[in-house]
Amino acid sequence: MALGTPWALDWIRASAAVIAEHRAELITLDRDIGDGDHGENMDRGFAAVLTKLDDLPDEATPGDVLKLVATTLISTVGGASGPLFGTAYLKASGAVGSARELDSAAVVSLLGAARDGIVLRGKAEVGDKTMIDAWTPAVDAAAGAAAEGQDEAGVLAAAAEAAERGAEATEPLVARKGRASYLGERAIGHRDPGAQSTALLLRAAATTAAA
Ligand code: ADP
Ligand code: MG
Ligand code: MG
Repeated sequence: MALGTPWALDWIRASAAVIAEHRAELITLDRDIGDGDHGENMDRGFAAVLTKLDDLPDEATPGDVLKLVATTLISTVGGASGPLFGTAYLKASGAVGSARELDSAAVVSLLGAARDGIVLRGKAEVGDKTMIDAWTPAVDAAAGAAAEGQDEAGVLAAAAEAAERGAEATEPLVARKGRASYLGERAIGHRDPGAQSTALLLRAAATTAAA
């Protein structure tokens, strides 16, 4: 079943909940290889998003929901992740346009545009130990699942699974972008916080699509 505005709203509400629930864990990850604020940044941003969702008009499209997330994250999150996630949701919004229902292909293009936006802004490549290490395998897995004929929920489940594995795979890496890059080999053995939050957000997308 194609995913409409009710799913988009559920996804974003579930995102806010999961980020709040994992706030301390994200803070700990960022304390290990950054400045310890990632959980706080993301929780502040998504809490602000929650307060604005109810103001959306009844005729809002999934793209309108994503755009509201983008503008709110850009204005409230700060740090590296605010503009990066903000750009991701903004490009995702542009990719789905004014569609009322998203099919598997639209879900793939939403995820691909989000990832491309982050790369455009942050210039990270796979293996740099950033959120891109979760996003890029997620986009690839989503495209593969769609090509196999999976439905939207299946595509998002494949993306979430790949993002979780990608986040885990940042642990042995040396960082080449962001604050963790100042640490050199001392970053080895620690998971990238932005890759972990990406995995949480994509798992929320999959769970709400399957509901
Ligand atoms: P800050 O580093 O400014 O305190 P956050 O702690 O909120 O911001 O976010 C840190 C996360 O941002 C990192 O874990 C990493 O995933 C991501 N990040 C940092 N720089 C880049 C970049 N150039 N490209 C992609 N992601 C990045
Ligand atoms: Mg930080
Ligand atoms: Mg910071």
